[in-house]
Amino acid sequence: MPFTAKVITTDEWGAESAGSFKKTVPKFIVIHNTDNKNPPDDVSQGTVDGGKKLARQIQEDHIKRNRWNDSGHNFLNTTGGIILEGRHGTLNAVKQGMCVVSAHAKQDGNRLGGGNNSPGIENEGNFKTFKMQQKQWDSLVELCVSLCDSCNINPKNIRGHRDFSNTDCPGDWLYGELPRLRQEVADKLGTTLKEDEPLLQLDAIGQDVIELQQKLTDKGFSPGAIDGDFGENTRQAVIAFQRSVGLLDDGIVGNDTRKALGLT
Ligand SMILES: [Zn+2]
Repeated sequence: MPFTAKVITTDEWGAESAGSFKKTVPKFIVIHNTDNKNPPDDVSQGTVDGGKKLARQIQEDHIKRNRWNDSGHNFLNTTGGIILEGRHGTLNAVKQGMCVVSAHAKQDGNRLGGGNNSPGIENEGNFKTFKMQQKQWDSLVELCVSLCDSCNINPKNIRGHRDFSNTDCPGDWLYGELPRLRQEVADKLGTTLKEDEPLLQLDAIGQDVIELQQKLTDKGFSPGAIDGDFGENTRQAVIAFQRSVGLLDDGIVGNDTRKALGLT
């Protein structure tokens, strides 16, 4: 499937001009909330004109307050289910399987890396407890389906901003709904989430962990004591190993990492 989601471009919403941005191959989709008011007090009021107004407000805020070169995000999804392009060049890039480097998910410490190389979707509202309305949810699913397909992103890599940065974004309710989002996107794409993949991760214990720690040690990535307890030191060693071989550095040992380590 090509990219089919309907998107209002920066030209169409009257964005301030900005330079061009480097393009890279994205690994993730990063879900945000704008932290604006929820319906019935939402800025966009669910209309196309309201969506354009909100897009202009956010761009101005990102340039003036955050001192970024342009909107930090790649897409805005309003309460009315209207999707608008964020950072200039995003739409053309994702149609080619790439994304423009943006500024929506600064990597903090030991969290996931690569957020700013991946499409970031701002969802209008605040989803700490507020439940997203169906129209906005449907357009979010549609946009994620198009992005996963055109950029070859596995739906399991749909993540929340808090996975990358020290923030509550996208709010507890929306973050808690990400498994449902991944599943709905996977269903529409006709792919599986490979949930049956055996994973070794933080807090795992046992013989499998001992074998993992031994392999990491052999390869020069010290997990600390070889004690069969997958703690923070082991997680850090896994992340360092994953980075060294160009794998997704999530600190979780799935099939790809297992294979790269030579674990059977
Ligand atoms: Zn965010």
